Amino acid sequence: MNNVNYQKELDKITAVIEEGRINRPKVLLHACCAPCSSYCMEYLREFFDITVFYFNPNITSEAEYTKRLDEEIRLIGIYNDQVTRYREAGLQPDACDMKVTDNTGLIKIIRGDYIPGQFSERVKGYEDCPERGARCHICYELRIAETFKIAREAGIEYVATTLTLSPLKDAQKINEIGYRLGEGSGDVKWLPSDFKKREGYKRSIELSAEFGLYRQNYCGCVYSKRE
Ligand code: SF4
Repeated sequence: MNNVNYQKELDKITAVIEEGRINRPKVLLHACCAPCSSYCMEYLREFFDITVFYFNPNITSEAEYTKRLDEEIRLIGIYNDQVTRYREAGLQPDACDMKVTDNTGLIKIIRGDYIPGQFSERVKGYEDCPERGARCHICYELRIAETFKIAREAGIEYVATTLTLSPLKDAQKINEIGYRLGEGSGDVKWLPSDFKKREGYKRSIELSAEFGLYRQNYCGCVYSKRE
């Protein structure tokens, strides 16, 4: 089966927003960490009102969970400060070649609780699967399903995830899971993506360097740390 280009699927939706055929939508963006969020937020904030949902019960320890969360909050603060300065004084950010426009939105965050048992219970029997395999598919689904639940409760139209940025993640599988979960989620729709397609991963490295973001050297779970 041919792989779908999910960046092009996202382009179709952003084109409709740009043409003003639908009102600027809200998206609940599941975020795994600040480095991956950096590009995804820079890109999506031109089209959507973003609420980030930080929810990652796969992470090895509470200290690591909090460290990644704190960086996420710090990054959102930097982005929102850029928008505030632009709106108040017309100032463009100094950072990289980043631009703020009249469309650039402020970003909110919802902090998910750290309940590691939610992950360890679900991946029992799959511990030895290699990265990108069945264990990871369960991990993607756990996090995306919770994001749909929160989006339904909050009345947010779209759900997306930063997980498609990483070259180590299976973007085809992530999008298949997202569409499947979206089918049973009433008015909440899946926002397809493959954020790495337009040099998104490279851009995330530039932004991480610019803002001095903490970049962990493993995906998140104890098995990825061992690998
Ligand atoms: S390697 Fe990453 S995506 Fe896969 S199970 Fe571990 S934390 Fe989840």
